[in-house]
Amino acid sequence: MNILVLNCGSSSLKFQIIETDLDLIEQNADKRLASGLLERVVGNALITLQVEGQPKVRETAPLRDHRSAIDFVLRWIISPNSKINNIKSLGDIHAVGHRVVHGGEKFTKSVLIDDQVIEQIEDNIELAPLHNPANLKGIYGARELLGTGVPQVAVFDTAFHSTMPETSYLYAIPYQMYRRHRVRRYGFHGTSHRYVAYRYRQLANIEREQVNIITIHLGNGCSACAIKNGESLDTSMGLTPMEGLVMGTRSGDVDPSILEFIHHKEGIGMRDIDTILNKQSGLLGISGLTNDMRELLAEEQEKNDRRARLAIDIFCNRVKKYIGAYLAEMGGADSIVFTGGIGENSAAVRERICNGLEWMGLSLDKERNGEKVNGREGEISVDNSRLKAFVIPTNEELLIARDTVRTIKNVPRRW
Ligand code: AMP
Repeated sequence: MNILVLNCGSSSLKFQIIETDLDLIEQNADKRLASGLLERVVGNALITLQVEGQPKVRETAPLRDHRSAIDFVLRWIISPNSKINNIKSLGDIHAVGHRVVHGGEKFTKSVLIDDQVIEQIEDNIELAPLHNPANLKGIYGARELLGTGVPQVAVFDTAFHSTMPETSYLYAIPYQMYRRHRVRRYGFHGTSHRYVAYRYRQLANIEREQVNIITIHLGNGCSACAIKNGESLDTSMGLTPMEGLVMGTRSGDVDPSILEFIHHKEGIGMRDIDTILNKQSGLLGISGLTNDMRELLAEEQEKNDRRARLAIDIFCNRVKKYIGAYLAEMGGADSIVFTGGIGENSAAVRERICNGLEWMGLSLDKERNGEKVNGREGEISVDNSRLKAFVIPTNEELLIARDTVRTIKNVPRRW
């Protein structure tokens, strides 16, 4: 089956077409046929398109909204110029898989989208006011353009963490806040943590229940997940994707009293404070330079910039703290696994995080951790390391495509 995977952000649209099916999943032989990114979706959009194995094509086009962005993508997919294997008309797109950020407590696995599911995703808008409306626009747009005959599946960022026990997901605030408003920790990046755990299981050749690892997703957004007996036991993001690790522009953990303090000192309201913590903090806020780790590493190395170094050090220190906390919470783990743009590509950051963890049994192999592993799967600890370390590139789109097929065919997912 050819699955269109859509990931709609507030002003962007990412897509892939993936050929997959139950037998292809079994053989790990599913294939990406094409992919693309549309930025500045409302306005003169910047568009990058790529048919697998061919160079990227860049262009601009005026787009009104997400619907016109999807329309643009569909036209490109079937146009004779793109020449995507086996796709000649819209009828060759067999289903659509959507990334949906917040599934609340309702969705613990991927589901076939119908009117009731749409209503329930709408109900979760208050929990993810930036993300769920954009995801819904993708669902409405694809339905309208492809028709209701093409099945659509929602894959939730929160679903993998639905196994967290109350001891992980409840905040120590009055219990009524949970009962009345569902204020609790949900966790995000679940599709990424789940994919990485699944690949780890394959590499280690073990059963799901034997997977005891800490997965560390370090990209623009960052989160860690304690996976015990194959299930999410705890994760660093909370009610929203703000909690936990230091991120590109998000603060991660702060003392909640900071909000009141800044309100008085700066004379600004909650909305502006939220913008500061979400968009002007993290690596950007500390360095005053950029949210981009690659640029910060270059600033540090080439100009010896003090605040670039400080930002990277605080970033790495926070990850280290979570590793320690999760090892204690899990009663030990077999491996830590790095993923995400930074986790997959920066040997320097991985080394700074693992540095000093020898006492807990983690010995990094400098050569294995070198540039060769960047962007690839591989072990980066020494052979006899008691706690092992791996790099495993994430592939959320592939998991969304696979879940789409399994959900349509009513095959319970094994992970
Ligand atoms: P993502 O959100 O997963 O695409 O990750 C984006 C982050 O990965 C940005 O901070 C990038 O600077 C960072 N990144 C990508 N490649 C590298 C690299 N080679 N070294 C350091 N950071 C990188």
